[in-house]
Amino acid sequence: MDRLVDAAFAHASRHAEGAVADYIPALASADPALFGLSVVGVDGEAHEAGDTGSRFSIQSISKAFVYALLCDAVGHEEALAVVGVNNTGLAFNSVVAIELNDGHPMNPMVNAGALATTALLPASDAADRWHLIQRGLSLFAGRDLALDEEVYRSEAATNQRNGAIAQLMASYGRITEDPAEVVDVYTRQCSLLVDAHDLAVMGATLADGGVNPVRGVRVVAADVARDTLAVMAASGLYENSGEWLFEVGLPGKSGVSGGLLTVAPGKAGIAAYAPRLDGVGNSVRGQIATAYLSRVLGLNVFVSTAYIPTA
Ligand code: GLU
Repeated sequence: MDRLVDAAFAHASRHAEGAVADYIPALASADPALFGLSVVGVDGEAHEAGDTGSRFSIQSISKAFVYALLCDAVGHEEALAVVGVNNTGLAFNSVVAIELNDGHPMNPMVNAGALATTALLPASDAADRWHLIQRGLSLFAGRDLALDEEVYRSEAATNQRNGAIAQLMASYGRITEDPAEVVDVYTRQCSLLVDAHDLAVMGATLADGGVNPVRGVRVVAADVARDTLAVMAASGLYENSGEWLFEVGLPGKSGVSGGLLTVAPGKAGIAAYAPRLDGVGNSVRGQIATAYLSRVLGLNVFVSTAYIPTA
């Protein structure tokens, strides 16, 4: 495994195309040369290469885990009805998608659905909601995750669009909490600091039926882990989610700071951090390294062989 991770890392390191996200001002200062690759198995063992201790804000990858917390709290049917699981085919921060779907958020991986997910998490007030999310994501990672104050302040000062999305959702009655408070908690969840190793442990927890394999602690129910992976498979890599599933055959979730988490169900979490992004916002090196590992380890969940009766 260590040799294969090294080979995937070397293979992807040759690629220097793509650009660091800059629509959140604090993200623009990320070092484009950073690259970390971490695989954590359901046995809790880590196999890693590169800058796996470099911290970055989790951004959109938080959406998968907050969705898991919501499913765990309200159950499969309610999560399906109120947040949805279908791809929009449009950008993650699309307002048009909301209008086209009568205010329905469609899925938890786009901002409309992520804001609805954060708003629906049962909590007594905004502080409690933030506490539940920070604690829940820390359980997935197996350590206390802290807020990147600079990224939080930078995004809070510039995310008028998310404010507009939350207002629109509220106008459709899809968000009943105060939209500004929901955006604030969502911005905080996106600003939680992780490294590639943390992300791989978080993914390994989903791969392991909701049990953090490093800590031996159940974080969510097994059917919640299953449902979360299904949503990641459908919508985890922005508008290229279909291509990702076609080429790699694994559920994944990427974020604009350059993280990419992929899960091989029952086997491992695979996490990459490399801030150069392609045109839709997915880490270039992260995709190349993960595709390599999926191929050489035979992880594609759609692989099957013909059943040939012998008698
Ligand atoms: N906090 C970012 C936003 O809402 C997350 C975007 C992303 O990683 O896709 O715009």
